[in-house]
Amino acid sequence: MIQVRRWLRDAEDVVVLTGAGMSAESGIPTFRGASGLWKHFRAEELATPQAFASQPNLVWEWYNWRRELIAEAKPHAGHRALALMEERVPHFTLVTQNVDGLDAVAGIRNVLKLHGDIWQTICTRCGERRENREVPISSLPPHCQCHPDALLRPGVVWFGEALPAEEWDLAVDAVENAELLLVVGTSAVVYPASSLITLGIRNGAHTVEINPHSTPLSDEMDLHLAGAAAELLPAIASALEPEA
Ligand code: NAD
Repeated sequence: MIQVRRWLRDAEDVVVLTGAGMSAESGIPTFRGASGLWKHFRAEELATPQAFASQPNLVWEWYNWRRELIAEAKPHAGHRALALMEERVPHFTLVTQNVDGLDAVAGIRNVLKLHGDIWQTICTRCGERRENREVPISSLPPHCQCHPDALLRPGVVWFGEALPAEEWDLAVDAVENAELLLVVGTSAVVYPASSLITLGIRNGAHTVEINPHSTPLSDEMDLHLAGAAAELLPAIASALEPEA
C-alpha cells in the first residue's frame, strides 16, 4: 500500500483499467461471480450477436433486468477516489470495460468506454446510436423508426465483436504513456481489454491489481492488493490529499 501511494504521488500519467468488479459494491452483479447468473443463463450465452439474432426478446429481458439494477445503483467511495485522482494527477485516463456509466455519475470526465454504454441503443438496420433511458423498455424487442422490421439492440460490445476503434486507440496511447496502471475489478480474461495490462507491463508502467481474487495476470503485475475497490481505492487516493 505504501508503495502504490508513493507511485501515485510521483506519477504524471496514470491509467486506471476497470472491470465489472469496480461496480460490484454498487450492487451491479459481475459476469463471472455466482451473482452473474440470470434465470440460469450465463452472461456468455446472452451477450453475443448469435443470442440476439435467435432470441432478441430473451436478450432484451436480460438487459431490462440489468438496466433496472443499474438505474438504482449509485457510485461508491472507490468511484469518488478515482474522481479525486483525475482532479489531482496531471494526466489521468479511466479505461473501463463497464457499460453502466457510474464513472460519469461520480464526476469522472476522461473515460474511455471499451465496451459501449447500456444506456444507448443501436439500430440493426440504419446503425443509428441513440440514448435510451426507459426502464424497463416496455415493448420488446424495441424497433427503430427507420423501418417496421428494424430492431434496436443494446449499445454495448458483445463477445466476439470488435471494440470501438477510436476508444481503443486512445486507450493504447494512454497505457503506453502511463507511469502507473491500476487494474481494478477485472478478471483479465476478456480479450483484447486484458492485453492493455500486458502492454502496460511491457512498457514499464508500475502495475497494481486491486481485486479480492487472483487473476491469470496477477503474478506478472508489480503488486496484487487483495481487497475491494470501495475500500482500497480511497486508501490509495488519499495519498494525493494535501495533508498526506
Ligand atoms: P468479470 O465479471 O469477468 O470479473 C469481475 C472481477 O471483479 C473478478 O475478478 C472479481 O474477483 C472482481 N471483483 C469482484 N468484486 C470486486 C470488488 N468489490 N472490488 C474489486 N474487484 C472485485 O468482469 P470483467 O473482467 O469486467 O469482464 C466481463 C465483461 O462484463 C466486461 O466486458 C464488461 O463489459 C461486462 N460487465 C459490465 C458490468 C458493468 O457495467 N457494471 C457488469 C457486468 C459485466
